[in-house]
Amino acid sequence: MVSRPAELDAVRAVLSTVQDPELPVDIVSLGMIAGAEIEADQSVTLRLVPTFLGCSAQFLIEQNVVDAIRDAGLGTARVVWDSADTWSVEKLAPPTRKVLAEHGIAVYDGGDLACPYCSASKTEFVSEVGSTLCRSLAYCHECMNPFEIFRDHRGGRLQSWVGSSGRAVPLRIRSAVAPKRTPT
Ligand SMILES: [Zn+2]
Repeated sequence: MVSRPAELDAVRAVLSTVQDPELPVDIVSLGMIAGAEIEADQSVTLRLVPTFLGCSAQFLIEQNVVDAIRDAGLGTARVVWDSADTWSVEKLAPPTRKVLAEHGIAVYDGGDLACPYCSASKTEFVSEVGSTLCRSLAYCHECMNPFEIFRDHRGGRLQSWVGSSGRAVPLRIRSAVAPKRTPT
């Protein structure tokens, strides 16, 4: 590894132009970059962390990164998926949550689940699997909009408001297929 801060800055600037194929944000804002190194032969090695293990967009991201580095004149890039690091929603850059909310995607990191449209917590978990592996479906009983939840690999309890009773019922989010309701 050779330390060249200026070149690494250029690499990071290019990476911030690579969009996630499934989300309206770039891979730097998503916190997917675990490391970047300039090798002795001038090639670039990038360590990336997938937002969700088994994400089908992983290989498209890899190709887009390699293409972007080459197109920017920064040479050959190699992507290494970092299995030692684990992505979590805490890695999201703060403005990214706002961008996701503007696209109807809530970020779940424990506690009550706020609707991305109206911020109400009268939300109900609908389905573990949404349009992608890393997203689940929910519904807001306040503004009556369906929305998606962007979540990480961790299990956890999602507070869901149930319309008929009006009381919060914890629901378990797991990385398995079927949602499991846990009685209070
Ligand atoms: Zn709402």
